[in-house]
Amino acid sequence: MDLTLILGPMKGGKTYELISFFAPLSYTNIKYCLYQSARNVRDSFIESRNGVQLKAKKIARLSEILDDDVEVVGIDEIHMFEEADVPAIETLLRRGVRVVASGLDTDYQGKLFIIIAKLIELCPRTINYHRAVCELCRKPDAVYTQILKTGEPVIAGLPPVVPDDGSFTYRPACRSCFVK
Ligand SMILES: [Zn+2]
Repeated sequence: MDLTLILGPMKGGKTYELISFFAPLSYTNIKYCLYQSARNVRDSFIESRNGVQLKAKKIARLSEILDDDVEVVGIDEIHMFEEADVPAIETLLRRGVRVVASGLDTDYQGKLFIIIAKLIELCPRTINYHRAVCELCRKPDAVYTQILKTGEPVIAGLPPVVPDDGSFTYRPACRSCFVK
């Protein structure tokens, strides 16, 4: 059925919007499930920064969703999946499943993730662009996510999806403060 994308930099409230959409479904008969990438090793919940959380199923490939009996699908951190996962989303939409996915739209260099470009080609019903507070100038205009190593912006040499193993820190940045 319909695809909804919730995009923007980190700390922009994307996961909170995803949770706000799904939380009421637990009071309905609608069959739904939330998913997150198995690459996210931190937790088995989708949790927003204000502490609200919902249980999520970890999957390595989005095609695993095709085996589940669901009417509404939520995917957190969609940018952690790959271009090869997009046909599974297309299959879900053709089946009449509603898909709501949130994640970063651009990588540490400010480039659109390929999977996000491919999802936009599926013609979403809605794309909600979130902004965060820039951690340098404190204006609520952050559109990028800067990756730092020992306090300095990393501008090259990383894969688009950077492993969250504690060796990097992340901060939302506005157009003026983002270092390309
Ligand atoms: Zn700024």
